[in-house]
Amino acid sequence: MEVLEDSENAKGMMRNYHVGTLSEEGRRALRCAQDAEAAQPSPDRPVFLDPARWTQAVLRNKTQVSPDTKLFTFELDHEGQEVGLPVGQHLMLRLRDPAKPDEAIVRAYTPVSDSTHKGTLDVLIKLYLPPPPAPGVAPGGGGGRMTTALDQVPLGTRVDFKGPIGKFTYLGRGRVRLGDAAAAATPTRRVSSFVMICGGSGITPIFQVFRAIAQDAEDETSCTVLYGNRGVQDILLREELEGWARRKTTTTKSRIADQGVVAGGVVGGQCRVLYTLTNPPATGWDGRTGRISEELLRQEAMPHEDGGGGGAMALVCGPPAMEQSVREILLGLGWKRDDLVFF
Ligand SMILES: Cc1cc2nc3c(=O)[nH]c(=O)nc-3n(C[C@H](O)[C@H](O)[C@H](O)COP(=O)(O)OP(=O)(O)OC[C@H]3O[C@@H](n4cnc5c(N)ncnc54)[C@H](O)[C@@H]3O)c2cc1C
Repeated sequence: MEVLEDSENAKGMMRNYHVGTLSEEGRRALRCAQDAEAAQPSPDRPVFLDPARWTQAVLRNKTQVSPDTKLFTFELDHEGQEVGLPVGQHLMLRLRDPAKPDEAIVRAYTPVSDSTHKGTLDVLIKLYLPPPPAPGVAPGGGGGRMTTALDQVPLGTRVDFKGPIGKFTYLGRGRVRLGDAAAAATPTRRVSSFVMICGGSGITPIFQVFRAIAQDAEDETSCTVLYGNRGVQDILLREELEGWARRKTTTTKSRIADQGVVAGGVVGGQCRVLYTLTNPPATGWDGRTGRISEELLRQEAMPHEDGGGGGAMALVCGPPAMEQSVREILLGLGWKRDDLVFF
Protein backbone atom coordinates (compact mmCIF):
# COMPACT_ATOMS: atom_id res chain seq x y z
CA MET A 1 0.00 0.00 0.00
CA GLU A 2 1.43 3.41 -0.97
CA VAL A 3 -0.05 5.90 1.46
CA LEU A 4 2.84 8.00 2.44
CA GLU A 5 3.43 10.66 -0.19
CA ASP A 6 2.78 14.28 0.75
CA SER A 7 -0.37 14.35 -1.36
CA GLU A 8 -1.92 11.79 0.94
CA ASN A 9 -0.91 13.02 4.37
CA ALA A 10 -2.67 15.73 6.38
CA LYS A 11 -1.04 18.56 4.42
CA GLY A 12 -2.25 17.00 1.19
CA MET A 13 -5.70 16.46 2.66
CA MET A 14 -5.84 20.15 3.63
CA ARG A 15 -5.24 21.14 -0.01
CA ASN A 16 -8.36 19.20 -1.01
CA TYR A 17 -10.42 21.71 0.96
CA HIS A 18 -9.43 24.57 -1.39
CA VAL A 19 -12.17 24.87 -4.00
CA GLY A 20 -11.60 28.46 -5.19
CA THR A 21 -11.18 32.07 -4.05
CA LEU A 22 -14.21 34.04 -2.86
CA SER A 23 -15.29 37.51 -3.96
CA GLU A 24 -15.71 40.26 -1.33
CA GLU A 25 -19.46 39.67 -1.20
CA GLY A 26 -18.96 35.94 -0.90
CA ARG A 27 -16.58 36.43 2.03
CA ARG A 28 -19.15 38.51 3.91
CA ALA A 29 -21.83 35.87 3.35
CA LEU A 30 -19.41 33.14 4.46
CA ARG A 31 -18.50 35.03 7.61
CA CYS A 32 -22.16 35.10 8.72
CA ALA A 33 -22.63 31.47 7.72
CA GLN A 34 -19.51 30.39 9.65
CA ASP A 35 -20.68 32.07 12.83
CA ALA A 36 -24.11 30.44 12.58
CA GLU A 37 -22.76 27.04 11.50
CA ALA A 38 -20.41 26.28 14.44
CA ALA A 39 -22.02 23.98 17.00
CA GLN A 40 -23.04 25.78 20.17
CA PRO A 41 -21.54 24.60 23.51
CA SER A 42 -23.59 21.73 24.86
CA PRO A 43 -23.58 19.89 28.20
CA ASP A 44 -24.80 16.80 26.32
CA ARG A 45 -21.93 16.18 23.92
CA PRO A 46 -19.44 13.67 25.46
CA VAL A 47 -16.85 14.22 22.68
CA PHE A 48 -15.68 17.66 21.54
CA LEU A 49 -14.39 17.06 17.99
CA ASP A 50 -16.85 16.44 15.19
CA PRO A 51 -15.48 15.57 11.73
CA ALA A 52 -18.59 16.95 10.02
CA ARG A 53 -18.86 20.41 11.57
CA TRP A 54 -16.91 23.07 13.40
CA THR A 55 -17.10 23.09 17.19
CA GLN A 56 -15.96 25.96 19.40
CA ALA A 57 -13.67 26.11 22.42
CA VAL A 58 -12.70 29.16 24.47
CA LEU A 59 -9.07 30.31 24.59
CA ARG A 60 -8.26 30.32 28.33
CA ASN A 61 -4.49 30.57 28.56
CA LYS A 62 -1.29 31.26 26.63
CA THR A 63 1.99 30.14 28.21
CA GLN A 64 5.40 30.94 26.74
CA VAL A 65 7.41 27.69 26.73
CA SER A 66 10.38 28.62 24.55
CA PRO A 67 11.58 31.82 22.84
CA ASP A 68 9.20 31.32 19.89
CA THR A 69 6.62 28.81 21.14
CA LYS A 70 3.50 29.08 23.28
CA LEU A 71 1.13 26.54 24.79
CA PHE A 72 -2.47 27.54 24.03
CA THR A 73 -5.09 26.08 26.38
CA PHE A 74 -8.73 25.92 25.27
CA GLU A 75 -11.73 25.16 27.46
CA LEU A 76 -14.18 22.61 26.06
CA ASP A 77 -17.98 22.57 26.54
CA HIS A 78 -17.81 20.94 29.98
CA GLU A 79 -15.36 19.28 32.38
CA GLY A 80 -16.37 15.74 31.40
CA GLN A 81 -15.97 16.25 27.64
CA GLU A 82 -13.19 14.31 25.85
CA VAL A 83 -11.30 15.87 22.92
CA GLY A 84 -11.88 12.79 20.74
CA LEU A 85 -8.58 12.72 18.86
CA PRO A 86 -7.05 9.30 18.07
CA VAL A 87 -3.28 9.07 18.69
CA GLY A 88 -1.34 10.35 15.65
CA GLN A 89 -4.26 12.31 14.16
CA HIS A 90 -4.62 16.10 13.88
CA LEU A 91 -7.33 18.71 14.01
CA MET A 92 -8.04 21.88 12.05
CA LEU A 93 -8.15 25.21 13.82
CA ARG A 94 -10.08 28.13 12.27
CA LEU A 95 -9.78 31.74 13.28
CA ARG A 96 -11.00 34.98 11.79
CA ASP A 97 -7.99 36.96 10.57
CA PRO A 98 -7.79 40.15 12.72
CA ALA A 99 -5.94 41.82 9.80
CA LYS A 100 -8.74 40.88 7.30
CA PRO A 101 -11.93 40.31 9.32
CA ASP A 102 -13.83 38.90 6.33
CA GLU A 103 -11.37 36.05 5.99
CA ALA A 104 -10.91 32.92 8.05
CA ILE A 105 -7.56 31.19 8.43
CA VAL A 106 -7.47 27.38 8.71
CA ARG A 107 -4.38 25.37 9.74
CA ALA A 108 -3.70 21.85 11.05
CA TYR A 109 -2.41 21.23 14.59
CA THR A 110 -1.67 18.22 16.79
CA PRO A 111 -2.73 18.83 20.40
CA VAL A 112 -0.34 17.66 23.08
CA SER A 113 -3.00 16.92 25.68
CA ASP A 114 -3.67 13.22 26.14
CA SER A 115 -6.40 11.81 23.87
CA THR A 116 -8.43 10.77 26.92
CA HIS A 117 -7.95 14.10 28.73
CA LYS A 118 -11.21 15.84 29.58
CA GLY A 119 -12.37 19.44 29.80
CA THR A 120 -9.46 21.25 28.12
CA LEU A 121 -7.31 21.05 24.99
CA ASP A 122 -3.61 22.02 24.89
CA VAL A 123 -1.97 22.97 21.59
CA LEU A 124 1.75 23.76 21.41
CA ILE A 125 2.35 26.29 18.65
CA LYS A 126 5.54 27.74 17.23
CA LEU A 127 4.91 31.40 16.41
CA TYR A 128 6.10 33.02 13.19
CA LEU A 129 5.70 36.64 14.22
CA PRO A 130 6.42 39.64 11.96
CA PRO A 131 9.91 41.05 12.48
CA PRO A 132 10.09 43.96 14.94
CA PRO A 133 9.83 47.41 13.32
CA ALA A 134 13.16 48.70 12.04
CA PRO A 135 14.09 52.29 11.17
CA GLY A 136 13.20 53.07 7.57
CA VAL A 137 11.17 49.85 7.08
CA ALA A 138 7.36 49.98 6.80
CA PRO A 139 5.74 48.03 9.72
CA GLY A 140 3.54 44.97 9.34
CA GLY A 141 3.62 41.79 7.26
CA GLY A 142 6.15 39.02 7.11
CA GLY A 143 4.80 36.73 9.83
CA GLY A 144 2.76 33.55 9.60
CA ARG A 145 -0.96 34.36 9.24
CA MET A 146 -2.42 31.97 11.80
CA THR A 147 0.29 32.20 14.41
CA THR A 148 0.40 36.01 14.29
CA ALA A 149 -3.41 36.06 14.65
CA LEU A 150 -3.37 33.52 17.51
CA ASP A 151 -0.74 35.52 19.34
CA GLN A 152 -2.98 38.60 19.14
CA VAL A 153 -6.43 37.19 20.01
CA PRO A 154 -7.45 37.93 23.60
CA LEU A 155 -8.19 35.27 26.20
CA GLY A 156 -11.90 34.43 26.17
CA THR A 157 -12.10 34.29 22.34
CA ARG A 158 -14.10 31.39 20.88
CA VAL A 159 -12.02 29.45 18.34
CA ASP A 160 -13.31 26.88 15.81
CA PHE A 161 -12.02 23.30 15.61
CA LYS A 162 -12.80 20.39 13.30
CA GLY A 163 -11.40 16.86 13.12
CA PRO A 164 -9.94 14.35 13.45
CA ILE A 165 -7.91 14.46 10.24
CA GLY A 166 -4.94 12.34 9.13
CA LYS A 167 -3.93 9.06 7.54
CA PHE A 168 -1.96 7.56 10.44
CA THR A 169 -3.37 6.27 13.72
CA TYR A 170 -1.50 4.49 16.49
CA LEU A 171 -3.91 1.93 17.94
CA GLY A 172 -1.50 0.78 20.67
CA ARG A 173 0.70 -2.26 21.36
CA GLY A 174 2.40 -2.04 17.98
CA ARG A 175 -0.73 -1.79 15.84
CA VAL A 176 -1.06 1.06 13.35
CA ARG A 177 -3.70 2.00 10.84
CA LEU A 178 -2.66 3.74 7.63
CA GLY A 179 -5.59 5.32 5.86
CA ASP A 180 -8.86 7.01 6.66
CA ALA A 181 -9.66 6.50 10.36
CA ALA A 182 -13.37 6.81 9.62
CA ALA A 183 -13.30 3.87 7.22
CA ALA A 184 -13.79 0.83 9.43
CA ALA A 185 -12.44 -1.46 6.70
CA THR A 186 -8.98 0.14 6.66
CA PRO A 187 -6.52 -2.66 7.48
CA THR A 188 -4.10 -2.47 10.40
CA ARG A 189 -0.51 -3.65 10.56
CA ARG A 190 2.00 -4.51 13.27
CA VAL A 191 5.15 -2.53 14.02
CA SER A 192 7.87 -3.71 16.41
CA SER A 193 9.90 -0.49 16.45
CA PHE A 194 9.54 3.15 15.48
CA VAL A 195 12.22 5.63 14.60
CA MET A 196 10.68 9.06 15.10
CA ILE A 197 12.48 11.88 13.29
CA CYS A 198 11.42 15.45 13.91
CA GLY A 199 12.46 19.08 14.05
CA GLY A 200 11.07 22.05 16.01
CA SER A 201 7.28 21.96 16.47
CA GLY A 202 7.25 18.71 14.43
CA ILE A 203 7.61 17.01 17.80
CA THR A 204 3.84 17.29 18.45
CA PRO A 205 2.52 14.25 16.50
CA ILE A 206 5.64 12.28 17.43
CA PHE A 207 5.05 13.01 21.12
CA GLN A 208 1.49 11.67 20.90
CA VAL A 209 2.73 8.26 19.68
CA PHE A 210 5.75 8.21 21.99
CA ARG A 211 3.60 8.89 25.05
CA ALA A 212 1.01 6.29 24.03
CA ILE A 213 3.74 3.63 23.93
CA ALA A 214 5.48 4.81 27.09
CA GLN A 215 2.38 5.01 29.25
CA ASP A 216 1.16 1.49 28.43
CA ALA A 217 3.16 -1.03 30.45
CA GLU A 218 2.00 -3.80 28.09
CA ASP A 219 3.24 -2.01 24.95
CA GLU A 220 6.58 -3.55 24.00
CA THR A 221 7.13 -1.49 20.83
CA SER A 222 10.53 0.16 20.97
CA CYS A 223 11.05 3.72 19.80
CA THR A 224 13.88 6.14 19.21
CA VAL A 225 13.16 9.86 18.87
CA LEU A 226 15.73 11.83 16.87
CA TYR A 227 14.88 15.44 17.54
CA GLY A 228 16.68 18.32 15.82
CA ASN A 229 16.67 21.91 17.03
CA ARG A 230 18.79 25.05 16.94
CA GLY A 231 19.62 25.42 20.65
CA VAL A 232 18.80 23.80 24.00
CA GLN A 233 16.12 26.43 24.62
CA ASP A 234 14.28 25.32 21.47
CA ILE A 235 13.80 21.69 22.57
CA LEU A 236 10.04 21.41 23.14
CA LEU A 237 8.37 18.96 25.57
CA ARG A 238 11.80 17.96 26.87
CA GLU A 239 10.71 17.25 30.44
CA GLU A 240 7.71 15.24 29.23
CA LEU A 241 9.74 13.20 26.71
CA GLU A 242 12.43 12.32 29.24
CA GLY A 243 9.89 11.67 31.99
CA TRP A 244 7.97 9.19 29.84
CA ALA A 245 11.16 7.52 28.58
CA ARG A 246 12.39 6.98 32.16
CA ARG A 247 9.02 5.82 33.39
CA LYS A 248 8.79 3.26 30.58
CA THR A 249 11.95 1.45 31.55
CA THR A 250 10.78 1.11 35.11
CA THR A 251 7.32 -0.25 34.28
CA THR A 252 7.72 -2.33 31.14
CA LYS A 253 7.90 -6.12 31.28
CA SER A 254 10.72 -6.20 28.74
CA ARG A 255 12.96 -4.00 30.83
CA ILE A 256 16.22 -3.06 29.15
CA ALA A 257 19.09 -2.10 31.44
CA ASP A 258 21.73 0.59 31.10
CA GLN A 259 19.38 3.49 30.70
CA GLY A 260 20.89 6.87 31.39
CA VAL A 261 19.74 10.47 31.21
CA VAL A 262 22.34 12.80 29.71
CA ALA A 263 22.18 16.31 28.27
CA GLY A 264 21.83 14.80 24.82
CA GLY A 265 18.74 12.74 25.71
CA VAL A 266 17.69 9.47 27.32
CA VAL A 267 19.95 6.66 26.15
CA GLY A 268 19.33 2.93 26.54
CA GLY A 269 15.91 1.57 27.41
CA GLN A 270 12.89 0.75 25.27
CA CYS A 271 12.04 4.41 24.55
CA ARG A 272 15.05 6.55 23.69
CA VAL A 273 15.29 10.28 23.03
CA LEU A 274 18.30 11.74 21.21
CA TYR A 275 18.67 15.44 20.49
CA THR A 276 20.85 17.07 17.89
CA LEU A 277 21.54 20.81 17.95
CA THR A 278 22.81 23.07 15.18
CA ASN A 279 23.73 25.72 17.76
CA PRO A 280 24.84 23.79 20.88
CA PRO A 281 26.00 25.53 24.06
CA ALA A 282 29.75 26.10 24.32
CA THR A 283 29.95 23.89 27.42
CA GLY A 284 27.94 21.10 29.04
CA TRP A 285 26.46 19.58 25.88
CA ASP A 286 27.21 15.86 25.48
CA GLY A 287 24.58 15.25 22.79
CA ARG A 288 24.81 15.23 19.03
CA THR A 289 25.42 18.34 16.97
CA GLY A 290 24.42 19.42 13.49
CA ARG A 291 21.34 18.66 11.40
CA ILE A 292 19.68 15.28 11.11
CA SER A 293 22.23 13.82 8.71
CA GLU A 294 22.86 10.61 6.83
CA GLU A 295 25.54 9.70 9.37
CA LEU A 296 23.07 10.04 12.27
CA LEU A 297 20.34 8.11 10.44
CA ARG A 298 22.82 5.37 9.46
CA GLN A 299 23.70 5.00 13.16
CA GLU A 300 20.21 5.17 14.60
CA ALA A 301 17.65 4.54 11.89
CA MET A 302 18.48 1.53 9.75
CA PRO A 303 15.45 -0.44 8.49
CA HIS A 304 14.89 -3.94 9.87
CA GLU A 305 12.37 -6.75 10.05
CA ASP A 306 11.81 -8.87 13.14
CA GLY A 307 11.07 -12.59 13.07
CA GLY A 308 7.57 -12.11 14.45
CA GLY A 309 6.09 -10.36 11.41
CA GLY A 310 6.40 -6.83 12.75
CA GLY A 311 8.94 -4.46 11.31
CA ALA A 312 10.29 -0.97 11.69
CA MET A 313 8.43 2.18 10.72
CA ALA A 314 9.78 5.72 10.47
CA LEU A 315 7.58 8.67 11.49
CA VAL A 316 8.80 12.05 10.21
CA CYS A 317 7.57 15.56 10.98
CA GLY A 318 9.40 18.84 10.53
CA PRO A 319 10.03 21.75 8.19
CA PRO A 320 9.57 20.84 4.48
CA ALA A 321 13.32 20.97 3.74
CA MET A 322 14.07 18.58 6.62
CA GLU A 323 11.32 16.17 5.57
CA GLN A 324 12.60 16.14 1.97
CA SER A 325 16.18 15.48 3.00
CA VAL A 326 15.18 12.75 5.50
CA ARG A 327 12.97 11.08 2.87
CA GLU A 328 15.87 10.86 0.40
CA ILE A 329 18.32 9.58 3.01
CA LEU A 330 15.93 6.93 4.39
CA LEU A 331 15.09 5.63 0.90
CA GLY A 332 18.83 5.51 0.19
CA LEU A 333 19.38 3.48 3.39
CA GLY A 334 16.95 0.86 2.11
CA TRP A 335 13.66 1.88 3.76
CA LYS A 336 10.53 0.92 1.84
CA ARG A 337 8.11 3.75 1.04
CA ASP A 338 5.34 1.84 2.82
CA ASP A 339 7.29 2.06 6.06
CA LEU A 340 7.67 5.87 6.01
CA VAL A 341 5.00 8.17 7.42
CA PHE A 342 5.20 11.94 6.85
CA PHE A 343 2.63 13.78 8.96
C1 LIG B 1 -0.67 17.72 10.19
C2 LIG B 1 -0.05 18.97 10.72
C3 LIG B 1 0.08 19.15 12.09
C4 LIG B 1 0.66 20.33 12.60
N1 LIG B 1 0.80 20.48 13.94
C5 LIG B 1 1.39 21.59 14.44
C6 LIG B 1 1.55 21.79 15.85
O1 LIG B 1 1.09 20.99 16.68
N2 LIG B 1 2.20 22.93 16.27
C7 LIG B 1 2.69 23.87 15.39
O2 LIG B 1 3.28 24.87 15.83
N3 LIG B 1 2.52 23.71 14.04
C8 LIG B 1 1.88 22.62 13.55
N4 LIG B 1 1.68 22.50 12.20
C9 LIG B 1 2.01 23.66 11.31
C10 LIG B 1 0.77 24.60 11.22
O3 LIG B 1 -0.28 23.95 10.52
C11 LIG B 1 1.06 25.92 10.46
O4 LIG B 1 1.63 25.62 9.22
C12 LIG B 1 2.00 26.83 11.24
O5 LIG B 1 1.43 27.14 12.52
C13 LIG B 1 2.27 28.15 10.47
O6 LIG B 1 1.04 28.75 10.16
P1 LIG B 1 0.98 30.28 9.84
O7 LIG B 1 -0.38 30.56 9.25
O8 LIG B 1 1.39 31.09 11.02
O9 LIG B 1 2.09 30.44 8.72
P2 LIG B 1 1.81 30.69 7.16
O10 LIG B 1 1.27 32.06 6.95
O11 LIG B 1 1.02 29.57 6.61
O12 LIG B 1 3.26 30.58 6.64
C14 LIG B 1 3.68 29.41 5.97
C15 LIG B 1 5.01 28.95 6.47
O13 LIG B 1 5.97 29.94 6.24
C16 LIG B 1 6.90 29.91 7.28
N5 LIG B 1 6.95 31.18 7.96
C17 LIG B 1 5.95 32.07 8.11
N6 LIG B 1 6.41 33.14 8.74
C18 LIG B 1 7.70 32.92 8.99
C19 LIG B 1 8.71 33.67 9.60
N7 LIG B 1 8.49 34.88 10.09
N8 LIG B 1 9.95 33.11 9.70
C20 LIG B 1 10.21 31.90 9.21
N9 LIG B 1 9.29 31.14 8.60
C21 LIG B 1 8.05 31.65 8.49
C22 LIG B 1 6.54 28.82 8.22
O14 LIG B 1 7.23 27.65 7.88
C23 LIG B 1 5.09 28.67 7.96
O15 LIG B 1 4.67 27.37 8.28
C24 LIG B 1 1.12 21.33 11.70
C25 LIG B 1 0.98 21.15 10.32
C26 LIG B 1 0.40 19.99 9.83
C27 LIG B 1 0.25 19.82 8.34
